[in-house]
Amino acid sequence: RRVPLIAGNWKMNLDHLQAIAFVQKLAWTLKDANHDFSAVEVAVFPPFTDLRSVQTLISADKLPLAFGGQDVSEHESGAYTGEISAAFLEALETRYVIIGHSERRTLHGETDEQVAGKVAAAVKHNIAPIICVGETAEDLEVHGASAVPVAQLRAALARVDSAADIVVAYEPVWAIGSGQAATPEQAEQVAAALRGVIAEVLGHDVAAKTRILYGGSVKSGNIAGFMREPNVDGALVGGASLDVNEFAAIVRYQK
Ligand code: 13P
Repeated sequence: RRVPLIAGNWKMNLDHLQAIAFVQKLAWTLKDANHDFSAVEVAVFPPFTDLRSVQTLISADKLPLAFGGQDVSEHESGAYTGEISAAFLEALETRYVIIGHSERRTLHGETDEQVAGKVAAAVKHNIAPIICVGETAEDLEVHGASAVPVAQLRAALARVDSAADIVVAYEPVWAIGSGQAATPEQAEQVAAALRGVIAEVLGHDVAAKTRILYGGSVKSGNIAGFMREPNVDGALVGGASLDVNEFAAIVRYQK
């Protein structure tokens, strides 16, 4: 059985003081509601400057929350001004790192090769990459829904082996921040195709245990529909992850 993962990608929002207040409130809101963290895992992805504060709070108070970075360098160390290494994230006990988000691919020109390098760097440092793939509205029209995400995932897996712990996030670019989520059926169709790629590249056992998330305008009102699909194992939430009560309601989609 795959444990569902609800992940909040804060993007460039909340400084380290706001992050501390947010994480405390989130943990207490979920504990008050008797959330079973072993049944639905919860992770937050703050900006780099918040990570040390979030780690300190989570470890000091033994909060049942995971956290991760929103990006990582493909390089081990050295003259890469502004970059953050996987070794640094590992030293902060980071469990996950988002890699290849469409905003990085589009706004920062990240290529499939760089994404593959970043995935390899994360795995090397025992951090599970959350590999983001997704088609633009134009891709959807020209190639259909699955072709681009399938090709992106195949490229991203070029340098990992079957021992690696990975997560995949299907985020149609047209659904991100648009208020126009994919339908659960659309998400399921692409998630199933992505699971097929994992099976092909890393084997059936890895495919069966790898979590595939849906992302793009997820909110408390539509999460349950996605979670009913057999190949959708959670969500990568942007805007709606910045409101504690709304994010907690997404985590508690079964209620
Ligand atoms: P929204 O939930 O704001 O659409 O963002 C999705 C996303 O990009 C998460 O990584």
